[in-house]
Amino acid sequence: MTALIDPSTFNGTVYSGGWVAPSGGDIPIIEPATGDELGRTGVADESDVDKAAASAAAAQKDWAAATFQDRAAVLRRAGTVIEQNFAELTTWVVRETGAVRGPAEFFVGLALQECYEAAALASQPPGQILPTIQPRLSLLKRVPAGVVGVISPFNVPLVLSIRSVAPALALGNAVVLKPDLRTPVSGGFSIARVFSEAGLPEGLLHVLPGGADAGTALVTDPRVRVISFTGSTAVGRAVGELGARHLKRVHLELGGNSALIVLDDADVERAVSAGAWGSFLHQGQVCMTAGRHLVHERVAESYVEALAEHAGRLPVGNPNTDEVALGPLIDESQLSKVHGLVTSTVDAGARLVSGGTHEGLFYRPTVLDQVSTDMPAYANEVFGPVAPVVRFGDDDEAVALASASEYGLSLSILTGDAMRGLALAERIPTGIAHINDQTVHDEAVAPFGGVAASGTGARFGGLSNLDAFTESRWITVRGEIPAYPF
Ligand code: NAD
Repeated sequence: MTALIDPSTFNGTVYSGGWVAPSGGDIPIIEPATGDELGRTGVADESDVDKAAASAAAAQKDWAAATFQDRAAVLRRAGTVIEQNFAELTTWVVRETGAVRGPAEFFVGLALQECYEAAALASQPPGQILPTIQPRLSLLKRVPAGVVGVISPFNVPLVLSIRSVAPALALGNAVVLKPDLRTPVSGGFSIARVFSEAGLPEGLLHVLPGGADAGTALVTDPRVRVISFTGSTAVGRAVGELGARHLKRVHLELGGNSALIVLDDADVERAVSAGAWGSFLHQGQVCMTAGRHLVHERVAESYVEALAEHAGRLPVGNPNTDEVALGPLIDESQLSKVHGLVTSTVDAGARLVSGGTHEGLFYRPTVLDQVSTDMPAYANEVFGPVAPVVRFGDDDEAVALASASEYGLSLSILTGDAMRGLALAERIPTGIAHINDQTVHDEAVAPFGGVAASGTGARFGGLSNLDAFTESRWITVRGEIPAYPF
């Protein structure tokens, strides 16, 4: 079987009406575990965005006019292409992002679900019949937004790109996708190949790996009507400001520092396993990572001891060649950020119970105890495999601690009394809450998103995508023109 993604196909190019050389030259794609070059990506700049937006706007008209069956069929075929090339796509995710194989398979599985759910979205009722005081038909009609710009990050690039690309296409839009330059294949080229194989007409999907200049060009281009941005809160704030100036609809899915609360009635052994998974999965490079462990003081000693023991036995290494639980961090800059937050927290008086060391980009899962809320690894999003533990004395204190964060993405409450957990969750503002599970979950049918500094805009997932990627139009129809008083 021929490969879906052959590095010689995209060698130094971008995907915009076929594989073309962009204006910004090309750079290597580096495998974080080995430092090997996996291929070369073109680097798009403003002029490439300009050309892509023009092409996308032109192609979008016919696509919007296509039948919903035709659009759904392309999305279904895209899901099938992913299924048929599952192993190859998984290996790209493993090698390019440093994901361990199990999570990488989950990411590819989620990507194919996004395509199948998007296919179903195409046949959703395209609006509502509204009540009206006039003798007329009054309708709310959903219409495609036009050209959607998607900007995605390095950490789970396949899912975070396709979760917007698939529904946007299904609903009659064209898409210009700008993945992170560190992960152009999983975040973009693989999606271009999938949709090309699925028969998506040329011009509807452009993949332009690039930096801040290409992202800015996408946000300011007048033909791009909606921006779907996933990334850090700092960049999201800048994108939001710029989008507002250009009167864009901007969906922002941003950073997090999610709390995992262990109540005194929780099964500690299970809680430790859930807590370890929530903090160390994918090296902690997940927006929903459990960034703060809030543990009742009655169970805190045993929890910290077991979590440290758990962290100490997790193997870290090359996920492409070894059976490991954690792979590498994405690059040196993430490494120095993570290590800086850990060492400054230890310097501030926290107790390093496990980890805190690294070999190259391979960071040991780290547990910090005796942490106070002003310490750097607790107060900031670490985006590394780090579990800072803070103790509390009663439910009110747990609620106050969990709520005292600028972020509001995910929340976990682990307890022997599910209704007590639910009652506490009602008091803590986040976009997502899991009672008796850890913080990291995603399903193509669930509304995904955060509040406050974790994001603003529409939710992604399931029927929420209707709001995210269409405009609502009010239409009235009368049999004849009414007579007016003057
Ligand atoms: P980042 O904000 O640095 O980059 C994200 C994307 O924005 C990249 O494609 C980047 O090239 C682009 N970009 C950078 N500057 C830009 C600008 N000025 N204008 C437009 N685009 C620009 O984020 P990152 O470090 O790659 O990713 C990690 C962050 O993403 C974490 O904070 C994480 O929590 C967050 N994240 C959020 C979610 C979510 O769904 N809420 C999911 C995954 C990651």
